[in-house]
Amino acid sequence: MTAEQQRPVQMIARGKIVTMDTGRRIIEDGAIAIDKGVILAVGTNAEISARYSPAEELGGSDALLMPGFIDAHTHCTQCFVRGLTSGELPMIPRIYNPAQRVLTAAEAASTVRLLSAQMLRAGVTTLCEGTLNPDHESAILETLEEVGIRSVLARGRADQDFHHASLYSQINDRSWAKARDGEAEADLLRTEALLQRFPSRGNGLIHAAVNASALLGFSPRYFTDGAALARRFDTTLQVHTGRDREEVEFCLDVWKRRPIERLYDLGVVDEHLVAVHAVLASEQEIEILAAGNAALAHSPIECVANLNAIPNLPRFRAAGIRVALGCDNQANDMFATMRAAWLVHGARWGVERFDAEFLPAGALLEMATIESASCLRIEHVTGSLEAGKAADFLVLDGTAPHFMAAQDVPSELVRYGSRAEIVQTIVAGRVLYDRGNFTTIDMQALREEASAGADKVRQEVASRRYRPLPAF
Ligand SMILES: [Zn+2]
Repeated sequence: MTAEQQRPVQMIARGKIVTMDTGRRIIEDGAIAIDKGVILAVGTNAEISARYSPAEELGGSDALLMPGFIDAHTHCTQCFVRGLTSGELPMIPRIYNPAQRVLTAAEAASTVRLLSAQMLRAGVTTLCEGTLNPDHESAILETLEEVGIRSVLARGRADQDFHHASLYSQINDRSWAKARDGEAEADLLRTEALLQRFPSRGNGLIHAAVNASALLGFSPRYFTDGAALARRFDTTLQVHTGRDREEVEFCLDVWKRRPIERLYDLGVVDEHLVAVHAVLASEQEIEILAAGNAALAHSPIECVANLNAIPNLPRFRAAGIRVALGCDNQANDMFATMRAAWLVHGARWGVERFDAEFLPAGALLEMATIESASCLRIEHVTGSLEAGKAADFLVLDGTAPHFMAAQDVPSELVRYGSRAEIVQTIVAGRVLYDRGNFTTIDMQALREEASAGADKVRQEVASRRYRPLPAF
């Protein structure tokens, strides 16, 4: 083929390609042709170079190319508070929630910029906000569009009053829940508008979804109508469930059922459901999720940092449940998160059985890319390097010492890889992170914004902490 017959394209990326396609192919001397942000073809360097003429070239013979990571669970406005929570368990209603409520729209935008910078630096090309806060909705949307990272945004506002009678007060008291009439319908109309604007199955950078964050704050009507909306728009219904003892206690007291049993009674356990955490899921509840083809969003570092429990991941996997890994604002780094999953579950389920195969590296890589995309119902657009999908990928430095003499690429990525080896992070064909530089984030301005935001949040939560704040 002569040069005249080559098709001009936006970009060619070259290197060893970890495709994560159906055959999980690894192409040794590979190349990816990209045009208008979409992958046109993946093949050998010789094949692609003969067919396409690029305006821009990335990678090279020493590079390693892989799909961008998909962080399946985060909260966009927790960056200023997360460092104030260590050693303060339990703390979600006491510290996390008030710290987010106090943010102005501009400060919420700053947290999104900071979160995005951390993620892009660590190779995350898609984030999933599990509880898009309606108070900060437009600031978050505008900032994500400005940054250019891909996102799944599960939106919803609680519509139920509740009272949790804690263990000791249950002698004289009971827990209860009461819906605020009409709020579910009104709020789901807003989520429907968001789904129309940002379809889950569309090709845009933002994919809307439905959030019914917890059984305590969201009414039965919200769950059933929210699940119907998720089915109609082929998106996800995201629910924190089986997260802590208080929730299990509450559900047993009010409905005589454990949390996932209650979700089953409400008729919302299907392939659209993403069960977030489920660290306290019983055997029966795991069976319920499996029978409904629901997915699990699992954040292994958060399990240790805040939840004080880990799910029986081998049991979930054996039941055929799809699993997506998330950072939940802990490392904001999927290399760290994959490695945490390997170590946490290895110590809990592998070491004690002398079972080195309890969770293979390839499975962890899937849970951080293509399986995560499937859980979030965006596998049509991202999660693997295949023709027709968006060009969401990473260029890694194959000459870095930790990747030299690599023998088994999936294992070496999971066990030894880190964000230090990331050269570039590309979303929809746009280089957003490039050798220490961010192309859509003003890092100097962000440093000032983040410092001011962190000071404000620090003052807000100081009196809520059990222990005095450490001195700088
Ligand atoms: Zn969460």
